[in-house]
Amino acid sequence: MSTIREQLKLKAIHRTKRKIPPMKDSHGKYLRMSDYYGENVFDVRKAPSIPEKIRKEIAEVSRSGRHLSKENAEVIAKAVMEWALDKGASHFCHWFQPLTGGTAEKHDAMLSFTADGKPIEKLSASMLLQGEPDASSFPHGGSRSTFEARGYTSWDLTSPLFLIEGENGKTLCIPTAFVSYYGDALDVKTPVLRSISYLDAAATKFLHLIGHNKTTHVQVTVGPEQEYFLVDKAFYYARPDLVMGGRALFGNKTSRNQQLEDHYFGTISERVLAFMQELDIELHKLGISSKTRHNEVAPGQFEVAPIFSEGNVAADQNMLLMSTLRKVAEKHDMVCLLHEKPFAGINGSGKHLNWSMSDNTGLNFLDPGHDPQNNHRFLAVVAMIIEALARHGDALRMAIASHGNDHRLGANEAPPSIISIYLGDTLNKIFESIAGGKTFTPSDKTYLDLGANQLTQLMMDNSDRNRTSPFAFTGNRFEFRAVGSSQAIGFPLSILNTAVAEVMHESNRMIEADLKAKKSVDEALLNLVRKWYSKSHRVVFNGDGYSEEWVKEAARRGLPNFRTTPEALKVLADPKAISFLTESKVFSASELTTRYNVMLERYIKCREIEFETLLSMINQQVLPCALRYRRSLAMTIKALKDIAADTSVEVDIHHKVESSVAQLYRATHNLAEEVKKITHDDLQKTSEKIAKTVMPLSLEAAKFCNELEVLVPEDMWEIPKFYDMLFLR
Ligand code: ADP
Ligand code: MG
Repeated sequence: MSTIREQLKLKAIHRTKRKIPPMKDSHGKYLRMSDYYGENVFDVRKAPSIPEKIRKEIAEVSRSGRHLSKENAEVIAKAVMEWALDKGASHFCHWFQPLTGGTAEKHDAMLSFTADGKPIEKLSASMLLQGEPDASSFPHGGSRSTFEARGYTSWDLTSPLFLIEGENGKTLCIPTAFVSYYGDALDVKTPVLRSISYLDAAATKFLHLIGHNKTTHVQVTVGPEQEYFLVDKAFYYARPDLVMGGRALFGNKTSRNQQLEDHYFGTISERVLAFMQELDIELHKLGISSKTRHNEVAPGQFEVAPIFSEGNVAADQNMLLMSTLRKVAEKHDMVCLLHEKPFAGINGSGKHLNWSMSDNTGLNFLDPGHDPQNNHRFLAVVAMIIEALARHGDALRMAIASHGNDHRLGANEAPPSIISIYLGDTLNKIFESIAGGKTFTPSDKTYLDLGANQLTQLMMDNSDRNRTSPFAFTGNRFEFRAVGSSQAIGFPLSILNTAVAEVMHESNRMIEADLKAKKSVDEALLNLVRKWYSKSHRVVFNGDGYSEEWVKEAARRGLPNFRTTPEALKVLADPKAISFLTESKVFSASELTTRYNVMLERYIKCREIEFETLLSMINQQVLPCALRYRRSLAMTIKALKDIAADTSVEVDIHHKVESSVAQLYRATHNLAEEVKKITHDDLQKTSEKIAKTVMPLSLEAAKFCNELEVLVPEDMWEIPKFYDMLFLR
């Protein structure tokens, strides 16, 4: 008789790889990526079926805040419907990002009847433009009572419509914002759009002031790299903790984890590659420019990264990418784990938010060019970003706070919970010399000497990589690395945009004053560099962010270090810390209160789910396995004694099991008692209590589970181990 776990292992090992037929045309010729790229996307700003005049109006409307004329909206709705019907869609939905951390959709058939009762397909302008989902069932942080449950979704003209393919039909998805009856944003997208406009205004003005007359607008560019784990479905369903909360609540790491550094960029296993290939086809059809795929640091961990795009679209597409990851994994009998720390002791998952700004002429604000020390525009922009981080590091830390990210930040494999900025050697020296009034002489070693003439020469990057920094300059962009893998990037993105825009607006006023005083543009820019860098270089850190010294050094520098979510969220209750968000009108005060409550509540609820799950797994899985083993040891000892044989080894093992069981039992009791006491009256206090008191108790219980996992023989332990989940597929 094999145990459940053995059966699961056999299942996972013997899966047949899913093969999808290659994409070919009617003549049997292979389709290229470019043939099917974006086939499930409808971008009203580009669609040939919409008259050019109307497309121009759409572009104008999306920038000016004017409304689309009713007639034109009807033309667009008709074109959208025809496209969707031709593609085989029957339903449409307003797709939005409520404050649940996920997306929401309510499907309606594009069905109507003529006056004489004949069924017809219909998508009217009003159906396209606006929806009215019941807002009371989405998180609103107590900002509204349920009797005023009205909420509206409103079409976002700047994000392409797309089709979701199900097994038996297709649905047209309309990206929308989601607001309450009183116009409060109950979603992630609305503030993102506001922050993009706010930054656009500042950045366009900046370029105008310094003489770039061809600039009409500036876009935020974003490329999110997404890390994830894949686990065979069989193990997943045998671990309630993974199903309920996406994280293994106990389990020992295996002997070979990532210390050999052989998984990162290693050869991709066939089953995983089959998954990645199908994933890329699906993403490309959805117009998501998946570009890079590779193994990540931990066994069972992988990454996918698209080519960067407009911030708002990137934020929507990342949500879509996460759901596509889950959907395709399922087809391959695997489950995609997006949690920040599914397995304690090995690498967690993040979402590197690559961020820059570029104008309509293609000028990238963060491109240092060949001669960075004389690129004063670039240096001034970096200086503004340094200032923004020094001022609002606490808000940025808040923006990435979640129970999942708490396990990752500062865990010696991810950036610490201290927000600092990495510039790299060259840039740092340039700033130091400008601030010190010295001239910077670049070192002439711009090519790497590889000592092998057969190889092409490699240009040396202006910045080396620093994986330990939460916010690093990486050559032509900044990379906000502390963002959590399961998170909607829209929230941190809106905070980052606003922080930088605030400093940029101030900088513009300083430039104006300098120009008025007859200073040159160059002088004005250098003044900015000097001013911001001298004021705020404390936030610049180029060393090892994982080190204990940095934690001490950061404290000396007065940089905040919020280790847990409840601490970080306090920022949202501090009027001074968040005034930049309300003054810029990116958030209203009540919208921030909403987020404060929703995030605290989410923290508490997710932790409660974890505690309850852990307790039931201990009682129903861990203890029964351990007690069964103990009984068999006792029986063995008894039998050995009957024949007067030596029982010292058995007795010793029995002692160990007995002791772990007793300690686990006590720890479980303590945890259960504390969990019972959790109330939801004062969210801040409750969340702090959970972080400070209840979490350590659950870790204590997990420790004894781990002890037993090691003691109980392989054929008696029914719960999938890290070994199974990370190595067998
Ligand atoms: P790495 O592992 O070196 O960080 P990747 O290729 O995995 O590199 O990811 C880099 C990401 O940064 C990609 O999504 C890329 O498109 C994005 N990126 C590159 N340039 C910019 C830019 N100017 N603005 C925003 N994102 C950018
Ligand atoms: Mg990167």
